[in-house]
Amino acid sequence: MSTLGKVTGIVSNLVTVQVDGPVAENELCHINLRGTDLLAEVIKVNGDKASVQVFESTRGLRGGDQVVFLGRMLEATLGPGLLSSIYDGLQNDLTTMDGVFLKRGEYTDPLNHETKWDFTPLAQSGDKVVAADWLGEVKEGWLPHKIMVPFSFKGTYTVKEVVPAGQYTIDDTIATLIDEEGAEVKVTMTQKWPVKVAIKGYKEKPRPQKIMETGVRVIDSFDPIAEGGTGFIPGPFGCGKTVLQHAIAKQGEADVIVMAACGERANEVVEIFTEFPELIDPHTGRHLMERTTIICNTSNMPVAAREASVYTAMTICEYYRAMGLRCLLLADSTSRWAQALREMSNRMEELPGADAFPVDLSSIISNFYARAGMVVLNNGQTGAVTFIGTVSPAGGNLKEPVTESTKKAARCFYALEQNRADQKRYPAVNPIESYSKYLEYPEIVSYLDEKIEKGWVEKVSRAKTLVLRGKEMADQINILGDDGVPMSYHESFWKSELIDYAFLQQDAFDAVDSLCPLERQKYMLDLILEICDRSFSFDNYEDCRAYFKRLINVLRQMNYCKWGSEEFNNYRAQLNSILDENGN
Ligand code: ADP
Ligand code: MG
Repeated sequence: MSTLGKVTGIVSNLVTVQVDGPVAENELCHINLRGTDLLAEVIKVNGDKASVQVFESTRGLRGGDQVVFLGRMLEATLGPGLLSSIYDGLQNDLTTMDGVFLKRGEYTDPLNHETKWDFTPLAQSGDKVVAADWLGEVKEGWLPHKIMVPFSFKGTYTVKEVVPAGQYTIDDTIATLIDEEGAEVKVTMTQKWPVKVAIKGYKEKPRPQKIMETGVRVIDSFDPIAEGGTGFIPGPFGCGKTVLQHAIAKQGEADVIVMAACGERANEVVEIFTEFPELIDPHTGRHLMERTTIICNTSNMPVAAREASVYTAMTICEYYRAMGLRCLLLADSTSRWAQALREMSNRMEELPGADAFPVDLSSIISNFYARAGMVVLNNGQTGAVTFIGTVSPAGGNLKEPVTESTKKAARCFYALEQNRADQKRYPAVNPIESYSKYLEYPEIVSYLDEKIEKGWVEKVSRAKTLVLRGKEMADQINILGDDGVPMSYHESFWKSELIDYAFLQQDAFDAVDSLCPLERQKYMLDLILEICDRSFSFDNYEDCRAYFKRLINVLRQMNYCKWGSEEFNNYRAQLNSILDENGN
């Protein structure tokens, strides 16, 4: 018997319900609005009163309306066909709908039940298996999609039979297992999992061992993100958060990309719809969408759906990670999610924390970031979920609660700065304030020693010091005037500008410049540091400025040319001749 209830209060989409039996936090319920079932989630239980957040408009709802509790949490449907899909937070398939809006109480199926998938068995009868072990495989696009023992299965099972290779739908039985009591259980290609619970089913979750290349120099070289790592991009509106995230999506070394789009403005979601399917993966030349799932919030969905969307996106990533794939989860922007939490907590009249956000904001964010990571599966293979979220702090204030909480949870910090964006120094990542804690991991340092060259991290830190010194010199020059400082101040300043213009800045819209492989990053940094190591002699600061501007110009041209092309080599020669004019 399911627990029933009656609506007693309605504040926007927060509804209080008088219940006649046990209900649990995060349990789903249906509120009957004259024949239409509105889906809602329990967020708090207090005696026989439950506060539920409704995923839809509560227009027309009245006190006394009937509620049926469903005895399950919000679940994601998992199976082949998730890639290339565009869903809302409740996994309604937005591509099969007429227009972007669903009628109230209407839900679409996340996966296609007719599609036949080419199945290949991986397990044999007699095998002992546990949850998340691989039973078979289908090709989803060109990715191997593992069909696993459902994550909810407890204990050890014996495989009775796996169907032979052939064409099956997601509802066909592909394996029969026998549980510890001797009962037979059937497994299909689809399963459900509650989105707020992390998927386990791996042996261990060690610290990340390597970096995820993004082709973005300021990230890979200055503050690399680990494969299975976490990072966030705070920045005021218009500073390039979305552009940077899209560059990472396109270029990041990952098998599967899940994009949770909680639009800043309504038309941003529409942009995702139209732009993302056009993006071409520069590594393979194929459509990025083939290995992407987009979860977006349509503007008519209430705040609760925003929360659901980040969890659904994470669950899909964990599902693919269990297949031994490298997944990249991008959320833009997590501030919208935090605002949803704030709205709900305010409606519940909870004691508010800083800036009226819920007091447990920090732990909610940390728990979410903690679901990312590299895992070793039961069969010894590895999978990863790398998570990068954006934060849009109100007024660019990095001391606000969402930024502060995220800073505690994420290990990489890419601070986008208004000032840099105003000067069109893109990506506007502040090289001094940003950091990657992965550079403190000995395993990451040795990975970089091996992958790039021994001592790479020290080399980069030398470049960072030069940038910092340049900034100090700029401050001095500002105070004392161009003529009031020694020439060496100007030289230091311009050396830092050289690093900034020729290395840190990068054009996300240029096919060549946007994707800079690690070897090329090393080549450029070596070249730039070689110039910085020289001592020059200038008669006046104007000569110094003019000279460095010429160097910067040539180096930037090189960034736009195919590496090693004739054009590239010509610029390289030009650089040498400029260097021959001055310095040693
Ligand atoms: P946000 O998401 O922070 O509001 P956007 O990512 O939409 O900001 O960026 C705003 C604008 O800044 C872009 O439309 C683009 O013109 C410019 N921009 C941002 N990053 C870059 C970049 N790396 N290269 C070139 N232009 C950029
Ligand atoms: Mg944006």
